[in-house]
Amino acid sequence: MRKKIIKRAVDAIAESIAPVKFRCINCGRDIFDETGFCEECIKKVVFNNGKTCKRCGVGIDGAEDYCGNCTFDKIYFDRSFAVFSYEGIIQHAILEMKFNNKGRYAKVFARYLVFMAVKQNIEFDIVCYPPMSARSKRERHYNQSELLAEYFCDILDRNDCCVDALVKVRETERQEQLNKQDRKVNLKGSYKINPQIDVKGKRVLVIDDVKTTGATVNECAKVLKKAGAVSVTGLTVSARKERFDYETN
Ligand SMILES: [Zn+2]
Ligand SMILES: [Zn+2]
Repeated sequence: MRKKIIKRAVDAIAESIAPVKFRCINCGRDIFDETGFCEECIKKVVFNNGKTCKRCGVGIDGAEDYCGNCTFDKIYFDRSFAVFSYEGIIQHAILEMKFNNKGRYAKVFARYLVFMAVKQNIEFDIVCYPPMSARSKRERHYNQSELLAEYFCDILDRNDCCVDALVKVRETERQEQLNKQDRKVNLKGSYKINPQIDVKGKRVLVIDDVKTTGATVNECAKVLKKAGAVSVTGLTVSARKERFDYETN
């Protein structure tokens, strides 16, 4: 019930700010469908559809099938997919969605998540998202990943699938500011299973906005698998192309 109220509030705010129903989320120009971008802006959007890691879906170069993270780290999720490359227009829109009260962008991005889920034939019983601490949620007013997961289930008419399976048990630093090793340490033990949600025997889909090293979806998957989930698939709006300099700077 609470989820519905939050979503309705976000919709109401969006409508009051933007009386024209569809606008390009990059330049604000009127558009006539729900793709979210005008003709000019969509040309500049970079889709994550080049060569990708066979496990985590991140864009990679070279002859290998797997990225460095999936080759050297312990990975708990089964597969992960991302729609866009995290750069340019998409990066800007995601930052606006996260930090500048543009929760309505989640509705646009959820459509693309649905396209990807259908294209990749992703099967799931429940959908969840990386949880936010109560303090962060108070500050930002909503969890953008929760909104993405809810709109995703809405579009597929599977509202009952969206659950808050995970809870955050301690504050963490923002992942964006950390290097690869610190990202893992930062998140370690920060999520717990919500005892009211039974994930045993379930195929779980974890929805998020950005995947960088995969530390977030991996930490979610670790907790979910420990609680009995049979599979965990990640689905993110975007992924940062693998860049090895993350590991050193
Ligand atoms: Zn535009
Ligand atoms: Zn990978």
